[in-house]
Amino acid sequence: MDKIIQHLKHSDHILIASHTNPDGDAIGSSLAIGLALEGLGKKVTFYAESPIPAVYRFLPEIDRMTDKIEANNPFDTAIILDCGDISRVGDAVSMIQQIPTIINIDHHITNTKFGNYSLIETSACATAEIVYRLIKKMKAPIDKTIAMSLYTGIMTDTGSFRFSNTNRDSFAICEEMVAIGVNPYRIAQQVYGTYSLGRIKLLNRAIDSIEISENGKLSVMTITKEMFDETNTKPDDIDGLINYAKRIEDVKVAALIFEQWKNNRKDGARKTYHVSLRSEETVDVGAIATFFGGGGHTNAAGFSIESTLAGIKATLLDLANKL
Ligand code: AMP
Ligand code: MN
Ligand code: MN
Repeated sequence: MDKIIQHLKHSDHILIASHTNPDGDAIGSSLAIGLALEGLGKKVTFYAESPIPAVYRFLPEIDRMTDKIEANNPFDTAIILDCGDISRVGDAVSMIQQIPTIINIDHHITNTKFGNYSLIETSACATAEIVYRLIKKMKAPIDKTIAMSLYTGIMTDTGSFRFSNTNRDSFAICEEMVAIGVNPYRIAQQVYGTYSLGRIKLLNRAIDSIEISENGKLSVMTITKEMFDETNTKPDDIDGLINYAKRIEDVKVAALIFEQWKNNRKDGARKTYHVSLRSEETVDVGAIATFFGGGGHTNAAGFSIESTLAGIKATLLDLANKL
């Protein structure tokens, strides 16, 4: 951390980036570190390749995030947050790799330790927790916007302080953010209480799609493109749905499979499936996701795969026999 602070003291224009399909931690930790560095007089550009989900648009400085970056690459430093692998930033990866110094701040157990400096704390509940400590150590002021961003990152990555990554610091930091002026009800209301009607209808279909392995230890939820189309929703609206599949008694691993369409310059639109995995404490789904080319944490991980729905389900059900 000290080396990173020393480096940042001398940097001038910093690019902040996180993963595609951003969650509350990706967004919250990015805004918090960028705004804190601005407070210390640095020039900052916030890059996000995917659109920001509607439920996070209440964050005061969210409009600073853009999918356009200066073409002449004026940055001396990039800070990459909440990404286990640098390719998680999306198509800008090749441009970002040209930036002279890359700082990797993350809490994924599968982190590849890319970059010139890395600050990886796998026991942190969220990247926002690590960012909090960095901001404190840099002696940057925490205003209400930074406090809201950190609070949102921690609240969402801990599933509102319920998941196994919830620790003392989750509460201590959030308590401090509340003292600064964060209103817990208002943030929870924005993130969990402003769903579109379509999202609720998607929930209905997602729950209906749940299948259970013969031994009862694995549940699979499936979301197809038709379900998105019929309910007028998009992949952002999936956030949190997998937890319903995980709540079933005896289930040790829950999987959610959804269709993803990626525009590829060469082949046009290409279909892949994203598989999210959640497990109870004793099963390491991070290792399973890594095996399939993805990554994540011990109890929450994911990967993308080009296969058929039937093929993925067969693989998952085969896995269930080993649980
Ligand atoms: P999700 O599958 O989006 O629910 O994500 C669960 C966790 O796994 C998150 O912490 C993600 O950052 C991580 N994750 C998801 N997909 C990937 C991937 N393709 N590669 C690496 N990590 C991933
Ligand atoms: Mn994330
Ligand atoms: Mn995270």
